[in-house]
Amino acid sequence: MIRFTLRCDAGHEFESWFRNSEAYDKQAGAGLVDCPVCGSAKVEKALMAPSVAKVPGAKGRPEAVPMTAAPAPPDMPAKAATPKAVPAQLVALLQRMRAEVEKNCDYVGPEFAEEARRIHYGDAEERGIYGEATPEETEALREEGIEVGNIPWIPRADG
Ligand SMILES: [Zn+2]
Repeated sequence: MIRFTLRCDAGHEFESWFRNSEAYDKQAGAGLVDCPVCGSAKVEKALMAPSVAKVPGAKGRPEAVPMTAAPAPPDMPAKAATPKAVPAQLVALLQRMRAEVEKNCDYVGPEFAEEARRIHYGDAEERGIYGEATPEETEALREEGIEVGNIPWIPRADG
């Protein structure tokens, strides 16, 4: 018996026993020797090197990179921002935003998602609105191409 180190055309190395060198030639020639990794019958005797270093994957061979979709970020529940947890500057900024929104937009309350859709599809007067929406509603609106923003709603400066 004689042991050969063989390599397939995909670069897998494996060892196989043969009765003798002739037997190997015969079997390999008939396509009877196949790679245990990929099943390729295109195998040849690997070159024997005095010190066997691990053969790196054939360079230049495009590696199949599986494209896995990144996991969706977990829903970030809009936490009610409390002035205590927010730096004063940010509080002031948010209060200004709130004042701005209140000045320029119509409050539609929990009807926000419906109203935003009506405006988007031309069934309601185009204007800025604000109100409450669940994260699901917000997501659905964005999927429909409707621009919505989340503003941490904090108590007014004067109230
Ligand atoms: Zn192989």
